[in-house]
Amino acid sequence: MLFPRLPRAFTRKFHKIENKRERTIQGNFLIPVPPGSEIPNVFPKRVELGEVLVETGSLRILAPVNGVASLTESRSHFQIKQDGGWRTQSPYSSKSYTYEELLNTFQKGALASLDFPSVSLQTYFSYFSSQKEFNIILSPYSRYNHLDFKEMIESEMADAFSQFGALLQSVFPKAVLQNYFLAEKLEYKHPDGIPEYLIHTKMGLGIEEANHSLRHCELLYLGAETIFHILRMLYYGEPFTRRHLSVCLVDKKGRLDTEPRQFLLTNGQALDFIPQNIDQRYKVASFQGMFEPIQSVEIHSLGNFNIYEHYNLTLYERLPVIRNEFACIDCYECNTYCPTKANPLALVKTREDEFLKSSCIECGICTLYCPSGIDIRARILEAKES
Ligand code: SF4
Ligand code: SF4
Repeated sequence: MLFPRLPRAFTRKFHKIENKRERTIQGNFLIPVPPGSEIPNVFPKRVELGEVLVETGSLRILAPVNGVASLTESRSHFQIKQDGGWRTQSPYSSKSYTYEELLNTFQKGALASLDFPSVSLQTYFSYFSSQKEFNIILSPYSRYNHLDFKEMIESEMADAFSQFGALLQSVFPKAVLQNYFLAEKLEYKHPDGIPEYLIHTKMGLGIEEANHSLRHCELLYLGAETIFHILRMLYYGEPFTRRHLSVCLVDKKGRLDTEPRQFLLTNGQALDFIPQNIDQRYKVASFQGMFEPIQSVEIHSLGNFNIYEHYNLTLYERLPVIRNEFACIDCYECNTYCPTKANPLALVKTREDEFLKSSCIECGICTLYCPSGIDIRARILEAKES
């Protein structure tokens, strides 16, 4: 559903501010320190773009700009005062890699899987040996497919993408590469971007089997956004310090403007340029998409961009109504729309044993469609934990 487009000046202004920010020497970046990290006693110190600030068991946090990095008083955040320009775009350069070089480059670029939270790509790839037979899935979608990364890759990075396909075949000679970018008649609909669901629909495996293959590393899965950042690092020398934020708007009647708006933002940058440049009628925001549990934020308190958590920003004209749950009206919408036929209605009817836990991919569709506003998602999580 679309509602009338905002004046063009709105989007132009957004971009103008972004570009200006990139060109000039200014800016204060705030990056959360991952819980449990051991921070070396070297701060404050001068850092350069791509330098490691801290390393946890699974992820690395890199300096997103050149500047002076210090810790906030509570030691909960790195604060970087930018003191010099930094390159915003490197040229494409054709390169070949051995398996070890590939892993080292993933580590250097702090690449993470954006399909499975908190997994570094270096760790993920190290589970797959070059001597093993397995499938490699290249998916044209990301988890919530907030932006069309397939289109971005094909239009801006076609050479790099074909080189990456050849690279995967050379480092994993026994693996079967299944490139679903090449599939005809691609038409995304949620939950096609959820890895186990894509494997289920494309390879004909049951959801449980697909999950098992992913958990036991019998399948190497790369979604389009993850591939986008791999290509940036391998062939453009760009570490994972920037990520797209997709912005969508919801009017006061609850209608969603699906026209894509996207900004390639730098980790830690302040998001206050958004309320400053947006129509005042947008009052609240949420970093979640419509299939996720929404936590609303006042629009003037968006804070700073967090590369691991923020990929979507929905702006509302008014706070989504948090209404009480009504009684189930037996409309069967939840079961009808459930893509895996997991029988979510059983949870509402307190017949938990009839809910097919292992078939549920937590896509959020049943909760979104329930006309009685029943939080089926919460019941699913409870059932899965018990
Ligand atoms: S039960 Fe709900 S969350 Fe689970 S797969 Fe079905 S629609 Fe998605
Ligand atoms: S969608 Fe909601 S109201 Fe309809 S049957 Fe399912 S739980 Fe009941």
